[in-house]
Amino acid sequence: MVVPLGSTASILKYIRPKSFPTPFCPGCGHGILMGAILRAIDELGLDMDSMLFVSGIGCGGWIPSPHFNADTLHVTHGRPVAFATGAVLFNPKLNVVVIGGDGDIASIGGNHLIHAARRNLDMTVICANNSIYGMTGGQVTPTTPLGAMTATTPKGNPEPPFDLSRLVAAAGASYVARYSVWHIRPLIKALQKALLHKGFAFVEVLSSCPTQFGRRNDLPTPARMLRHFKETCVPISRAKDMSPEELAGKTLIGEFVG
Ligand code: SF4
Repeated sequence: MVVPLGSTASILKYIRPKSFPTPFCPGCGHGILMGAILRAIDELGLDMDSMLFVSGIGCGGWIPSPHFNADTLHVTHGRPVAFATGAVLFNPKLNVVVIGGDGDIASIGGNHLIHAARRNLDMTVICANNSIYGMTGGQVTPTTPLGAMTATTPKGNPEPPFDLSRLVAAAGASYVARYSVWHIRPLIKALQKALLHKGFAFVEVLSSCPTQFGRRNDLPTPARMLRHFKETCVPISRAKDMSPEELAGKTLIGEFVG
């Protein structure tokens, strides 16, 4: 029987059987993202032996490690882009992919992120942005929306968040895209472009965390969180014809640099 590329049966070969049961909570968007990354790799026919996955601490870091049956580097909190820089410089033939959460890559590792983008280093960075520190108890991050409830902002986040994709684009990255785990086919296409891209490629993925973010912010179920992405994400192409009032509370998705 022919197994179609990108299907569940086809991507199982990239997963370590011993990594199940997964460490993710039920309904975590990171599982959807993990599948999207592996489907993108499978459909492209990339050789896992020429790839290195680097992750730091946090739920997003669990995507490659322990799950991927490949070379993975699980490093200190906030430092995956720095370790990946060393790997790229040591062996430019490696296809280096950093996968981690907003707390890891954009908060603690924020400087590494913007300077790697500025240098246009040849790597792919996939940020699973769930707007909160999931694994460590639900603290506020620089991507937590204004007014959102977290463990450390019990009266609502008083500070405006980073627009991560725009930040990385402004820093100099040569490929930048943002989608959510609801927008699965466009997300897989963007991941494929990023994986093939020469230079610094950044894909921001809005991912659901019903456990730490959703239950505090009136999005208590996995399905409700996914519907939230469907309702609040607007393609860049459509946003051009919308007024500031219509765009209030919306998140732009699509290719920012490409
Ligand atoms: S805490 Fe949130 S991000 Fe972490 S595994 Fe659970 S649902 Fe996923």
